[in-house]
Amino acid sequence: MHARCSVCGEPAVARVEYARKWFCGAHFAGYVEGKVLGALERYRLVERGWRVLAAVSGGADSAAMLGVLAKASVALGFRLAAVHVDLGIEGFSEASRRAVEELCGSLGVPLAVVSLPEVAGVGLPELARRARRPVCSVCGAVKRYLVNVAAAEAGADVVALGHHADDLLAYAVKNFLFQRLPELAKLGPKTESTGGLVGRVRPLYEVYKSEASLYARLSGLPFTEERCPYSPDRSVEDEVRAFLDSVEARRPGFKISLARGLARNAGLWGQGPRSPPRACRVCGAPSEGELCSFCRLTLKALGRPMGDVAREKVREAVSAIKW
Ligand code: SF4
Ligand code: ZN
Ligand code: ZN
Repeated sequence: MHARCSVCGEPAVARVEYARKWFCGAHFAGYVEGKVLGALERYRLVERGWRVLAAVSGGADSAAMLGVLAKASVALGFRLAAVHVDLGIEGFSEASRRAVEELCGSLGVPLAVVSLPEVAGVGLPELARRARRPVCSVCGAVKRYLVNVAAAEAGADVVALGHHADDLLAYAVKNFLFQRLPELAKLGPKTESTGGLVGRVRPLYEVYKSEASLYARLSGLPFTEERCPYSPDRSVEDEVRAFLDSVEARRPGFKISLARGLARNAGLWGQGPRSPPRACRVCGAPSEGELCSFCRLTLKALGRPMGDVAREKVREAVSAIKW
């Protein structure tokens, strides 16, 4: 006998073990959308009338986030646009950019693309090589910087990130094991805007990776399955993820309980992202010292701090967004 949707009795396509329910495609989508709406409200992630800028990578997770936010923006009365950082990684970046353009086109969400090769004159791999730093660490710093500048220039109230529960928990547990406790403080569902840093929210906080992927697929949202050539084969986070999944398999709902615990207590682990005390001398971005991290990086790699050029390029890119 084939399983039937617990809501409508049509043939089921998905089982949500912790909810003890089977779903057809439409009711699975409704279930995921309900979870995200619940998180938006429970954690007070957005307010009516806000301008929400979603950072989208081209992968399934951020496609799912944008798809749900497009619906939620109508229900909750906020405005929505998207930003994508083109990292200039051969093959991968072209595929990602195409997917994001298709996604935003199909959802009718305004999109700004910020291209690292246009901003810095080189793509991510070359930038990291010249800076003599690991590619992924440069990638994180570059994306954080460009997305924040884009949000500030576009006048966004908040940036939405596509991190789901599996990402957040694996990162949190890893950092707990290494006793990097202040990192945990950054892992709540939201951080408030402070001194030039636009606040960040994570609408998929309680959504599992498997749910996000299935949602994107069943909803026909365009995304790329191309893997970044720099993603590590088996990181510590992957090991932690496998462990969490093995517990989840025996105790359905375990990861949701962990996510809720983390949401409650993340702030206890440190001061959270402090508002850096100064503005960068070159680009005005929030900075711990005289130069912001992007200007320090580009000074080291390219011989000149590029934050001012970046801000100009980002301003041009976000002019595509008409809220
Ligand atoms: Fe960036 Fe690729 Fe590393 Fe992810 S795997 S952080 S996209 S360089
Ligand atoms: Zn159904
Ligand atoms: Zn700067």
